[in-house]
This record gives sequence, structure tokens and C-alpha cells, in this order.
Amino acid sequence: MIRTKLAILFVFLLVATGGFAQSLKPLKGISIMLDPGHGGADPGAVGPTGLKESAVNLRVARYLRDLLRADGAEVSMTRASDDFIALGERVAMATKQVPDLFVSIHHNASLKPRKTNRSEIYYNAIDRGISQKVGNSMVSELAAMGFGEESIIVPAGFFVLRNNPSPSVLTEGGYITIPKIEQSLQTGKALTNQAQALRMAIRESFKDGVLRVKFIVAEDPVKINTSFFNLIFSSNREIEKVNARIIPERASGFGFDRLPSIGNTYRLYNTDPLASGNYELQLTFSSSDGNTSARTILRLQVNLPVANSILTSVAPFIPEGFKGRFPVRITLRDDMKRLNRQPLPITLVYGTNSTNREVTNDTGETTLHLDLNGDEKGSFNVKLLIEGIEYAETNLPVRAPTSRFVLGRVIDASGKGIKNAKISYGADDKTISGTDGYFHLDYPMIYGNMKLSITPPLGYEKTDYWIRTSGEPVTFPIITLKQVAAGLMGKRIAIMAPLSFDNLIRRLVKPLMGAGAEIVRLNFPESQSRPEYQSVLEANLAQNLDVLLSFKREIGGIISVRHYHRGGRGKLLADALKFSMASENPPIIINTEAGSDYEISHTGVTSVVIAFPEQMPPDYPEKLVAHLAQVLKTGF
Ligand SMILES: [Zn+2]
Repeated sequence: MIRTKLAILFVFLLVATGGFAQSLKPLKGISIMLDPGHGGADPGAVGPTGLKESAVNLRVARYLRDLLRADGAEVSMTRASDDFIALGERVAMATKQVPDLFVSIHHNASLKPRKTNRSEIYYNAIDRGISQKVGNSMVSELAAMGFGEESIIVPAGFFVLRNNPSPSVLTEGGYITIPKIEQSLQTGKALTNQAQALRMAIRESFKDGVLRVKFIVAEDPVKINTSFFNLIFSSNREIEKVNARIIPERASGFGFDRLPSIGNTYRLYNTDPLASGNYELQLTFSSSDGNTSARTILRLQVNLPVANSILTSVAPFIPEGFKGRFPVRITLRDDMKRLNRQPLPITLVYGTNSTNREVTNDTGETTLHLDLNGDEKGSFNVKLLIEGIEYAETNLPVRAPTSRFVLGRVIDASGKGIKNAKISYGADDKTISGTDGYFHLDYPMIYGNMKLSITPPLGYEKTDYWIRTSGEPVTFPIITLKQVAAGLMGKRIAIMAPLSFDNLIRRLVKPLMGAGAEIVRLNFPESQSRPEYQSVLEANLAQNLDVLLSFKREIGGIISVRHYHRGGRGKLLADALKFSMASENPPIIINTEAGSDYEISHTGVTSVVIAFPEQMPPDYPEKLVAHLAQVLKTGF
């Protein structure tokens, strides 16, 4: 506690003396990392006479570094010479240092010939605080310096922005591919002017200093064993507002209050309880003088004690003489009745001194096995212990079956149990496979063989399985289900389309979901201007997307399928679709090409744009969607 007080006092002193030299060194105490794009083997865009973007980026960055240092900032660079540095390394440097601002410096290329120049500033789409403020300021300073009046600021998901712990922007200071601009970028004047514009924008954005917030936590992640947290943070300014978001996203409320008598120290708490699990808390703070902090990310691990545990048998009794592994289901819940998502070591005690130590899995539902000798009789007692304490108990009867006893399991090709498969048999009997794919059913002895019709959950093929007996009353069938399309199982596919495409999109969604893919729909009304901004923002917020498919309508031409200009998976998908469409009789010819659509370069995932012309045979969209589903299923 004493230590905390001292630390805060220290912050106070710094702030108090900081104002002293403000006018001479406006960026004193502010750390900035400059990131000249490309370098070494990667020249980036190349101008018509061969000027390399990587060289221009580096020169601007060096000028800017010197200007910012003159303003008192602490400046570092991801590269200071013509070297190749991978994007991951650049982000790693930012992650290590966590500067107050990260500026990636680039120059643009246009796939289509363009005459007018403009600069483009991209800011980290998930950070509406400092990143956006710096971006806005850069756009106006660059325009004032003559770098294109129609310059724009755009929320984006470039790798170096998306994965950056610091407020971050990426500047495209004009089109190197326009001959006139290439020529001007060869002279020092245009480069120093650009650096000067960026410097003025940074100065403007940080003129009130930085709002810094620090959490006082002992560990990362922060571990709590109740549903509510209380986190202490201190700040160099008075905090007026806290913006909090919790991931995985859920309805949640937060509050904060000031701790009395120790400077700007606060307590942040949640008002809606959290279940056991891992969370990320994303926070931005606003101070009463109108300043905004950088995004603060805190990892939380909630471990609620198990309050409720259930031990059930998959089958209602143990068949007499059963020898081997007999499954029992274990369900662990916390006192909020939610499944316990943390693996726990448990012990099963059963029969005569038999124990079985195992660890439950992270779903809260696990199937464990009793090793039976075949000599169990009457009522068989099973106890579930967690850390030596008894949590549940059940008595399983042991008896001779009077009907055919089927203890089966539905698995996938890798041997993993499939839950929720519906198993129908006889006239209208059915059962459902549970945790780890186990199920039990019985049917009269007078029937020898029995057909089981398996209706699996999404992603697997429907199948029939025959139980064939040669008189034995107990059988243990293991039924392997085939995946509809292995490549699509568990894949997350985002589909972006205007609302008027709804019927068409449904035709695509159905087979993809049937193959086990998860679909993220990003619909928008046709009337919305630049709807792709919002959709791309959502795509960047949706985690772990594998593919983004964007549908749109265009004025003329033939169906165009566009992908990222460097090829990759998007190009493979486009080419496979073109090939597939050409197999129609008569062949349907579509165009595949590199595209400059906003969504292609601003999401971190493989993105493909499918653009339909206004005039085309009416069945083309439907046919395309059928081929697309097929191409995605077979892998690309
Ligand atoms: Zn570039």
C-alpha cells in the first residue's frame, strides 16, 4: 500500500514539472515508433521510372524522426536502413515497447490508372480514441501542405494496425504510381514537407499531453475466484469516463469510483456477474480535460468453485458380467449454474477400492470410464471427488439385460465423439448421443438385427448403421460419421452483401452451414453510403474469420470475381470458381482479376469480391452460388 502511494506521488511530480518546458519541447515525455513500410527484398510499390516506395518511406521517416526529436519526443524506428523486416517483427517491436503512438509510413499504388493524387490515412478500426484523432489531424495537415485536397481517413484492419498494442495509424502519402508524383517524391522538398505535415499533426494531437492509466495488478492474467472484480488503477489526470468492452462479448455493466485521499486512483468494477472462463477487458479512458487514453487491455481469468456436479451413467444399468471400460458422464457447474470451463483434476472412487484419477476437459462436460472386472453385483456405488472432497455420488444397478442392450458411440474420422447426433431405430424410437458421442438404447430380444438411422449435427453426413447380433444381448457399436466437407468444418466465413441479395445469400449459407461452417452475415441496406466501412469494421471485430465473401452489383460488363493483387488464397478461390463455372453447358464465362475494393485490402482475412453486372441471364447468380458452395466444400 505504501508503495502504491509513493508511485502515485511520483506521477504527480512528473506531471507538475512537465508543464514547465511545454512550449519549447511540445512532445516531451511522449514516445513514438515510426515504421517505414517495406524494405530490403520488398520494395513495395514501384513508380513508373523505378522509384521504390521502400526508399521513399524510409526518407520520410528519417526526416520525421529528426523533427519529432527536436520537439522532445522519444522516437524509435522499426527499421533505419534498407532492410527487410517482417510485419510480425514490426508488431513485436511495438508490443515490447508500447509507444504512445505507432506511425506506419507508406506510399500508394493504383491498379487502375489515376490522375488525381490524394493521401490516405488509415487508423486502427478498433480504436476510436487517439488513433482516430491523430488520423484526422494528419489528413488536414497534409491537405494544408498540398498533398491532395480530397485526402481521406479510413478505419482499417491492416496487420500492423490490428495487432498493435499502441494507438496506430498508417499513412499513404500520395500515389507513387502517378508519374508527376513519382517525380516530386524524388526531391527532398516533397519529403520534408510531408514529414513536417505529419509532425504538426502529431503535435496537435498531443498538445494536451497524454492521458496515462496504469492498473495495479500483480499478475497477468488477473485471476479471480468470484464473479465480480475490483481493479485499482491510477491516472495522471482526473478520469471522467471509462469505456469498457469485454471479450467474448456479453451484456455487462461496469462502474468506477474514486478512492478517497490518494490522488487520481480509482476502482473499476463489474455490475453483471461473470461465469468461469477467460476474458479480455478492453478499456479506454477519458479525462475531464477532454483527453483520451490509449486502449488498455487486461486479461481476466475467472475461476469459480464448482458448486454443482452431476454424475450420470450413459446407460441405466451395468449389464451383468460386463468387463472393461464403462462410461459415466460428469457435468460440473458453478453456483451460477454455468458449466465449469476450467479443467479440474478429479477422482472417481468405485467398487472395492478402485480409484480413477483424471482431468476433466474444458467444456464442463466430460465422459470418464469405470474399469469393471465383470464380477460386480447388485448396486454399484460411484463417488466423484474434487481435491479429496466428495461432490457427487450415484448408485448404478447391475443386472442381466431383458432386452438388447446397446451402448454405442458416434465418432468422427479422428476418433472424437460427436454430440447431438439423433439416432432413430425401430418404429419411432430415438435417442441422442451425449457428451463425447456416447448413447444407449435398447430393443426387444425378439429382434436380432436393428437398423439405426443417424441424423448427425451440421457438418456430417447422414448415415445408416446396422447392428448385427449373433444372439448376444449386449453390443457396443462404434459408428464413424463422415464429414460433408472436411475443409469447411469449423471454418468461419463472413458474407457481406446488400439486403436485396438476401434470397441468393440464403442459398449459399445453407450448404456451407450443412458442411459445418460458421457464417457471419454482414448485411447492409443498399442505400447506405460506403457501407463497406462498417462491414469491414465488423469483419475486423469478428475474430478468427477464414474467408470474407463480398457480393455487389455493378453497372456493366460480365461477372467479376476480384481478389488481393498479390494472389494468395483469394486468387485460388477465384480461379477455382472460374473453372467450375466454365463447366456449365453452355459455359458461363466470368472474369477474375486483382481488385482494389476496400474490403480486399482492409481485412486481415482472405477476401473475395463477387460483382454481378446489372444485365445478365437471370439464373447466373444462383448458378454461381451453387458452384461457389461446391468450390468451398472441396477446398481451394
Ligand atoms: Zn506500402
